[in-house]
Amino acid sequence: MCENCAELVEVLNEISDADSSEGGFQLKKEHALRVLGYISSWTQRQCLCCFKEYKHLEVFNQLVYALINLVIAQISSLRDRLCSVQDHTHKGGVSGTEGVGI
Ligand SMILES: [Zn+2]
Repeated sequence: MCENCAELVEVLNEISDADSSEGGFQLKKEHALRVLGYISSWTQRQCLCCFKEYKHLEVFNQLVYALINLVIAQISSLRDRLCSVQDHTHKGGVSGTEGVGI
């Protein structure tokens, strides 16, 4: 397996190890960031060798699902915050963008 994929497999293994105890899927921030890094650099790598093993593909699938849910939750909490800021600062000025980052 190539170096790039080995890095992803390391994350996938950590996740599936942590996951085996419970039914739920807990996405850690560290894992999310590492996988996002992998995904964003994938266009340069375009290697799928780590997915020859079905187990990895399955965990990656769950992971992408969890990431999408996380992003949806982030966006809707952002919307709520922006709406409440708008209500509170109707008379004053909007205080710019506060930390939204993951
Ligand atoms: Zn590879």
